[in-house]
Amino acid sequence: MFSIILLIVITFSCGMLCREIFSGRLKRQQDAHACLINELKRLKDLKKDLNAENNLLSKRFDDTLTLYELTKDVCRSLDEEKIFSIFSKNLKKHIGVGDCRYIKDNADLIKYKNYTILPLNLEENQVTGYLAVDRILETDKDKFGILVQQFLIGLRRALLYQKVQGLTITDVLTNVYCRRYFLERFNEELRRSKKNKLNLTFLMIDIDNFKQFNDRYGHLVGDAILRQVAKTIRDAVRQIDFIGRYGGEEISVVLAETNREQANFAAERIRQAISLEVIKVYDEQLKVTVSIGASNYPDVAANMQNLIELADQALYLAKETGKNKVCFSPA
Ligand code: GH3
Ligand code: MG
Ligand code: MG
Repeated sequence: MFSIILLIVITFSCGMLCREIFSGRLKRQQDAHACLINELKRLKDLKKDLNAENNLLSKRFDDTLTLYELTKDVCRSLDEEKIFSIFSKNLKKHIGVGDCRYIKDNADLIKYKNYTILPLNLEENQVTGYLAVDRILETDKDKFGILVQQFLIGLRRALLYQKVQGLTITDVLTNVYCRRYFLERFNEELRRSKKNKLNLTFLMIDIDNFKQFNDRYGHLVGDAILRQVAKTIRDAVRQIDFIGRYGGEEISVVLAETNREQANFAAERIRQAISLEVIKVYDEQLKVTVSIGASNYPDVAANMQNLIELADQALYLAKETGKNKVCFSPA
């Protein structure tokens, strides 16, 4: 009897113990499951945040790329109208906008009273122009403001270039007058010659086969040759004569108070000086020749443009008939 009771007690105790064990394990499993679900939810939220951040970053990247491309495009030109045309084409690619105008004169603003107008501060915080746009979306206004800044960069660059061009009178490479200033001086000298009934001769000097020197020795050597040729010309003329860089490798000279006979003498002196000179550049010792075309006032023309054209034709003749020579425009 006792053993039966003992068996029942033991069985009951074992049952209780097993129940305890199983229910504890179940609870732990349930807790672990809940934990996993929480973790999964957290990861899902994280993924959502990362996606949102990724979208934001790629939008920012696109915007930066747009700005970079636009700045690069508008900085390709130094002409205000061209810069505006590039800008307005780009603008329409990136924002919803109708007509776009660049207005320089504020009297014209009245014509665009239904447009959104943006003043442009181009110089020392002064408004020097306006941008007028039609039908711009409210949501695009911020982006528009940023894009306009790139337009301003292009415009400021062009204005600065124009200013520098206006201030410079000498060519940096050759140290003779730049073309614009040379032509101003030429006009003045021609006026003085007419007033005082003086002769004047214009020379157009061009280095022979210069391209071959560039191709063979490189542009740096070519530049050095050009600099030396300009110096030799300067040393061969008088103080009252003046020299300008007319084009790439063309140098022009105005021989003041000089008739055709005297000019022929001066031009020959220049030609010979250049042909005799040994130009030392880096390790090279080079020799170049020039051809010279000449025109004289009042013998062949009375106006600057004609004198230049006739000297150019004479230069062409010098090239055609063997180079390293002086040719005068026939009287
Ligand atoms: P030609 O005797 O008929 O004048 O022949 P060319 O080779 O001198 O004439 P062309 O006009 O064909 O070539 C002129 C060359 O001058 C081409 C151009 O690369 C070079 N040139 C123009 N400006 C510069 C410059 O500032 N530096 C250098 N290194 N080369 C220049
Ligand atoms: Mg040439
Ligand atoms: Mg040449």
